[in-house]
Amino acid sequence: MDILSSTLHQANSTTSGYFHTLLSLQASLDPFVTQLSWMEKLWASWYLYIGNDTFATGLLFFLTHEIFYFGRCLPWFIIQQIPYFDKWKIQPTKIPSNREQWECLKSVFKLHLLVEALPIWAFHPLCSKLQISVDIPFPSYKVMTLQVMFFFICEDQWHYWFHRLFHIGWFYKNIHKQHHRYAAPFGLAAEYAHPVEVMALGTGTVGFPILYAWVATKYTLLPSLHLFTVTLWVCLRLLQAVDSHSGYDFPWSLHYYFPLWAGSAHHDLHHHYFIGNYASSFSYMDYILDTESGPGAKSNRENKMKSKAEKKNI
Ligand SMILES: [Zn+2]
Ligand SMILES: [Zn+2]
Repeated sequence: MDILSSTLHQANSTTSGYFHTLLSLQASLDPFVTQLSWMEKLWASWYLYIGNDTFATGLLFFLTHEIFYFGRCLPWFIIQQIPYFDKWKIQPTKIPSNREQWECLKSVFKLHLLVEALPIWAFHPLCSKLQISVDIPFPSYKVMTLQVMFFFICEDQWHYWFHRLFHIGWFYKNIHKQHHRYAAPFGLAAEYAHPVEVMALGTGTVGFPILYAWVATKYTLLPSLHLFTVTLWVCLRLLQAVDSHSGYDFPWSLHYYFPLWAGSAHHDLHHHYFIGNYASSFSYMDYILDTESGPGAKSNRENKMKSKAEKKNI
């Protein structure tokens, strides 16, 4: 927090709590502070309140992960308790029991603490090295949107190939089988996986921002990366992962308006048939590489093969 440094730290030490810090900030740095958005003020106050950037980034990532993951699972859990929504359940005969979900929740939380805690705590030193900024103000909305879109596309590619690899013999048996415990998925099952899978697929989420930031240090034409953009991307990726495991497909689901979006219908078929639909966010990779899942895709493939064979015979 170079820009605000001493004045802000002074404000933090003489007051307690976020709101007092915020008021001190506004009073001491007006008009710069008053031009900031509420999110920028909240961001700055968080770092000032914690007082240690490494700890602040680590705690921010850990809490964001827990709040967005479990917070997004909660509405899906409530929906499962209300029979009215059953008509939109993709596999209506398979409603997960509360006990099953409780076991899943405990396992996922344990995994978060064991596997994901260390990389999260080590993230800030890496950010400093790669010049990922934590300062305010944030970059423009345009830059942040383009960067997040880029991460969505790259992660989808990574996920497709690693997921496909995880369905090959040894990898499936020893690693990916755990994630396929639930043939009819539910939100909490999104991160129910072997630690090796969590690390491998998680690399697709955090690896590309790291790679981008590294490239941006070499090529100054590329807009630099802000940690808020990374946080935003991680939140959206978490929402995507939980929603694709929800087990529900509503008439207002995103893929009906944006056909490239995979959504729950796409990933539910993968869990149902244990094959195909390997991508995470988008459906085009499975379409192009002919790895779509489900009876419809299977009969399309069979028809294609049949017509190919007939053409050969002619
Ligand atoms: Zn799979
Ligand atoms: Zn899954």
